[in-house]
Amino acid sequence: MTDAMVDAGLRCRGWRQEGLLRLLENVLAVGEDPARLVVYAALGRAARDWPSHDAIVTALKDLRDDETLVIQSGKPIGILQTHSRAPIVIMANCNIVGRWATPENFYALEEKGLICWGGLTAGDWQYIGSQGVIQGTYEIFMRIAEKHFGGDLSGRIVLTAGLGGMGGAQPLAGKLAGAAILCVEVDPVRIAKRLEIGLLDVVAASLDEALDLAQEAKSQRRALSIGLTGNAAEIFPAIAARGLVPDVVTDQTSAHDLVYGYVPLGRTAAEMPGLRSDSALLIREGRASIAEHVRAMLAFQRAGSIVFDNGNLIRSQALEGGVADAFDIPIFTEAFLRPLFSRAIGPFRWIALSGARSDIVRIDQLVLDSFPDNAVVTRWIRLAREHVPVEGLPARIAWLGHGERTRLALEVNAMVRTGELAGPVGFTRDHLDAAAMTHPTILTENMLDGSDAIADWPLLDALAMCSSQADLVAIHSGGGGYAGFSTSAGVTVIADGSAAADERIALALTNDTALGVMRYADAGYADAQDEVRMRAIRHIALEQS
Ligand code: NAD
Repeated sequence: MTDAMVDAGLRCRGWRQEGLLRLLENVLAVGEDPARLVVYAALGRAARDWPSHDAIVTALKDLRDDETLVIQSGKPIGILQTHSRAPIVIMANCNIVGRWATPENFYALEEKGLICWGGLTAGDWQYIGSQGVIQGTYEIFMRIAEKHFGGDLSGRIVLTAGLGGMGGAQPLAGKLAGAAILCVEVDPVRIAKRLEIGLLDVVAASLDEALDLAQEAKSQRRALSIGLTGNAAEIFPAIAARGLVPDVVTDQTSAHDLVYGYVPLGRTAAEMPGLRSDSALLIREGRASIAEHVRAMLAFQRAGSIVFDNGNLIRSQALEGGVADAFDIPIFTEAFLRPLFSRAIGPFRWIALSGARSDIVRIDQLVLDSFPDNAVVTRWIRLAREHVPVEGLPARIAWLGHGERTRLALEVNAMVRTGELAGPVGFTRDHLDAAAMTHPTILTENMLDGSDAIADWPLLDALAMCSSQADLVAIHSGGGGYAGFSTSAGVTVIADGSAAADERIALALTNDTALGVMRYADAGYADAQDEVRMRAIRHIALEQS
């Protein structure tokens, strides 16, 4: 965000439209490859192509309050006459009918220009760069620390790979949790980028040096992040062969996408674009490499490391590559986060649409004052305000649950109204949220009632958000290697200080988390059933019991 943008007046007919336009600009500003409209995860795009992008911008600038812009897979299709309480934007990205939802069909449809993948928060303009991912990764590390290491990761070594759009947050997240974290990345350009923006402390020249640095930091209980250029499929087995057992092992390479993402053994990142025309070769080589990569992760697990899949499909690819026990590695959601999701506690974010850092500083203080007994949130806010660099529009994320999100957003809307903040604030959340996602190998793996693959919940969530006055509502399904793996819903509400925004916030944010609690209560989670009773959520079966 430049100062010019801070000062700029409205370019649209109102803040609802202007807010969404600024969020679209922002995902490109913080994205990995804006020239290709790619925000993260190899292919997650903000719009289908540049003509579509430009047409979205033009439409947003002219859109009236009683109109709704309809976007299909990143392309604006039309404007509907609705009413002033209807969403300003609705979108459906990359939803292919079940049997046809394969990576091969996805790539063919993408090639024809008929579809694009919105990732989770890329296509619906909610991504806030490392400001968001750092917290999600930190939260996972802290759950592991609480469960296995007495509270933090000091004196522990974390081994991981991938320093891309989202994976680039790992070094700082690990460091904030107290660890010596070693990050293997095949592309030296990505390492240099993370070093430059301060997410990474040092780059080791060799594996020996990397391990020495990690061991020394461990013995001094000193938090340190170390980058190492190399292929994880080579480096992980090399570390295992030396008998070194990291305390925690995970991976955030783009293993979900073997054509545009994961770099197979013996290949360089630079040569990948030239190989993409032979997708069969890349898929074959990628799966063979991931098999080695995951075998090493399994060896670490057998030797005592806490190993987890961080949501990049690496186990599914390894299974295809012949590693029959790949799913012995647990998914992070089931292993560490399900009790939180049962109470609809998840990654909630707010974005200062004015571009003023001072707005985030003020809201940080509001959160500290409003939730003094929430140790997880207050600890995070204190760390974030000291360590998390601003990227694009200043933003913050914190894991808040049912009722808490609404309360905070209403208080912020009042601050916008009274002029305590420099401008309106956008509220949104990750798709990885209680009601919002069905992903049978990430969020909903091993649900108590076996409802892992039922996609009704995110669809109901999106419908509920449209009827609860949200400003933007999106339905996404997986693309690239994720094709056929997930369906999720995105929601954004713009707090412009108005009474109408109070109503939108109260309805949309409350109903979103209420549905999330109901989803887990329905699946039989005791925490969710307890939440239903404590918060008087109207879950019919429990009301009747
Ligand atoms: P990205 O494409 O921006 O970055 C991936 C990085 O991995 C790149 O820097 C690439 O050079 C590197 N890489 C590829 N192959 C490698 C190899 N063999 N060895 C070492 N490095 C290699 O992707 P991203 O946005 O950082 O996301 C990474 C993955 O994590 C994706 O699959 C994404 O969907 C997933 N993800 C999951 C969650 C979640 O559910 N918790 C959150 C964030 C990201």
